Amino acid sequence: MSALTGLYKEITRCQSCKLAETRNKVVPGEGPEDASLFFIGEAPGWNEDQQGRPFIGQAGAFLEHLLSLINLTRDRVYIANVIKCRPPENRDPMLPEIQSCQKWLDLQIEIVKPKMIITLGRYSLARYFPGESIGKTHGKARVQDGVIYYPMYHPAAALHQNKLRKTIEMDMLEIPGLLSQTEKTAEVPAEVRQLNLF
Ligand code: URA
Repeated sequence: MSALTGLYKEITRCQSCKLAETRNKVVPGEGPEDASLFFIGEAPGWNEDQQGRPFIGQAGAFLEHLLSLINLTRDRVYIANVIKCRPPENRDPMLPEIQSCQKWLDLQIEIVKPKMIITLGRYSLARYFPGESIGKTHGKARVQDGVIYYPMYHPAAALHQNKLRKTIEMDMLEIPGLLSQTEKTAEVPAEVRQLNLF
């Protein structure tokens, strides 16, 4: 059994918060164990709760469109959420829910070891950059411990606010360049990198 399959078994048995009482299916996340790109959304919605898969509703269709702009399909990237169970009536996730679910996301990232973590929306942004606003940080990459963190608006935001559509598309289009830039930088020995030539 692969490390992710073993982890999914544990996640689907999770009873760590009250969402276990109201969920239909747990939505652990999905994607290749060696994915370079790791997308993190907010929480499963109605469709996801029915099928146990992330981003399969309208927001998912838009995410697939965004991926197609950089010649990717969803099966080539990892897609997960900050919390694994649907909050009733699609309300916002609550802090205790986020906190008790954090361990699962951490383990997924530990297994996949992505080159780039793309946060989608406020909740996953807050997980990595607490207190920062999505309006200011979207589209600005930061590197920490060799991993690129890249905040983007949530795909659902473009469905509600048409003017964000272009912004999200432009941010997505930056991803291949950021990845190849970092790969090149990683080939440069650390002592040269410290000279700030790169
Ligand atoms: N929105 C999310 O954040 N995640 C999903 O899986 C679906 C919609």
